[in-house]
Amino acid sequence: MAAKFRALLLLLALSLARPASASRKLLVVLLDGFRSDYISDEALESLPGFKEIVSRGVKVDYLTPDFPSLSYPNYYTLMTGRHCEVHQMIGNYMWDPSTNKSFDIGVNRDSLMPLWWNGSEPLWVTLTKAKKKVYMYYWPGCEVEILGVRPTYCLEYKNVPTDINFANAVSDALDSFKSGRADLAAIYHERIDVEGHHYGPSSPQRKDALKAVDTVLKHMTKWIQERELQDRLNVLIFSDHGMTDIFWMDKVIELHKYVSPSDLQQVKDRGPVVSLWPAPGKHSEVLSMLRAVEHMTVYEKEAIPSRFYYKKGKFVSPLTLVADEGWFITEQPFRDTQDLASLATPPIPRQHQLFATDSRETLPFWMNSTGKREGWQHGWHGYDNELMDMRGIFLAFGPDFKSNFRAAPIRSVDVYNVMCNVAGIAPLPNNGSWSRVMCMLKGQASWALAVRPSSCTLALILLLLFA
Ligand SMILES: [Zn+2]
Repeated sequence: MAAKFRALLLLLALSLARPASASRKLLVVLLDGFRSDYISDEALESLPGFKEIVSRGVKVDYLTPDFPSLSYPNYYTLMTGRHCEVHQMIGNYMWDPSTNKSFDIGVNRDSLMPLWWNGSEPLWVTLTKAKKKVYMYYWPGCEVEILGVRPTYCLEYKNVPTDINFANAVSDALDSFKSGRADLAAIYHERIDVEGHHYGPSSPQRKDALKAVDTVLKHMTKWIQERELQDRLNVLIFSDHGMTDIFWMDKVIELHKYVSPSDLQQVKDRGPVVSLWPAPGKHSEVLSMLRAVEHMTVYEKEAIPSRFYYKKGKFVSPLTLVADEGWFITEQPFRDTQDLASLATPPIPRQHQLFATDSRETLPFWMNSTGKREGWQHGWHGYDNELMDMRGIFLAFGPDFKSNFRAAPIRSVDVYNVMCNVAGIAPLPNNGSWSRVMCMLKGQASWALAVRPSSCTLALILLLLFA
C-alpha cells in the first residue's frame, strides 16, 4: 500500500506540473509604444474595440517595462520573462568589442547573428521545440534562427506594417487557429509608436493610429465568434513601453560639446540612453568631463543601479549615459567630423571642429511630407523604466481569464508566465513574479492550483487507488 501511495503522490505531482489548457490556442498582439494612459477610463469611451475587450477580460493598471524602456530589450523580456542583463538583448543598438560586430536595431545583416539572440530561449522557440505550431506576423526576430530553431511561419518585418497589414494578420491568425495550422500566433504592430515619435504622444496622428487599431480589434472579437473560437482561444494584448514628449533645442544634450571623438572608441544609440566605450587610457578623462553635464547621469558599468537589472549584461559598455526625462542626447558622426577636419585649411581648432557637421544629420529629424529631413520628432522612450510615461499596457481575455477584472500593475518580466500557463507549457526559469499575475486567471489561487490533473492522469490515479 505504501508503494501504491508513493506512486499516487508521484502521479499527482506530475499532473500538477502540467498546465491546464494544453489544448487551447493563444493569440498575442504586441503594440509598440502604447502608453498606459492611451486607454484610460476616459479614453476608452471613444474606443469601442478596446472597451469591449476590457469588459470581457483583464486590464492591468499598467505594465512597467524593463530598463532601458526601448523596443528590442523589451521584446525579449516579454518573450523570455528575464531581465535584460539575463537575456543579453540590452539595447536597440549594441556593440561587441571582442568580434567588432554591431546590432543596429535589427536592420544590418550582423543583427541576425546568434550572439545577440542566443542569450535566452524565447517562448516561440520553446513552443516550436515542443512540436507546437507557431505563426508570427512582423514580429521582430521571427526571421532569425535562434538556438537552431525557427517558428513554423514567419511573415518577416520589412517596413512599418500598415493598418491593413495588421487587419490581415489578425484574420489570417484566426483562420490558422480554426484550421488547426497554428497553436500560437504572435502579431506585431508598430504604427502607434511611429506616430508617437513623429508627432508626440498627445498628437491627433497618434490618436488616429490608435483608432485604427481599435477598429481592427472590434472586428477581431466578431471574427473570433464567427469562427467559433471563443471557448478555445485566449488573447493577450500588450506593449513594450510608453512614450514621452521631447523638445527641439530646449532639451538637447550635444555630446560633441563635451568630448572629443578621438577620446572615444565607440558610441551606440542616442536619445535617452547612450553607450560609450572610451578610447584606451581615456576612461577617467571622459568620465570626469561627462559628469559635469547637466540633465543626464553618467554611470560606470558597476555603478548602474541594480534596480535596472542591466549592469551585468555582457554587451553593456564601460560608460552608460541616461538622460533626464524629455532630454535627448545626440551623438556626432565622428568619421564625418574627422573628414571635414582633414579637408579644412587651416585646421579647425578642436572645440570648433566638433560643431562642423550639420546637426540635422544626427538629431532625430525625419523625412516628413516635404521630402526632406525637416520634421523634428516629438516623442521618444528609453528613459528610466519607472517613469509614468514609460509605462505600457497589458490586456487579456478568453476562457482562462476572469472577465471585467481590473488587476494591479505588472512588469514586462511577468507576461511570460501568463503566456506559458495559457499555452500549456512549463515556463523556463525566469524573473517574473507569479504572484503578480495569478489573480487574473479564472479560479486560480496559486501556481499549483493554476494547473489541473489531466483526465488521463485522473484515470490512472483511480486505477491505482482501487487496484
Ligand atoms: Zn519607438
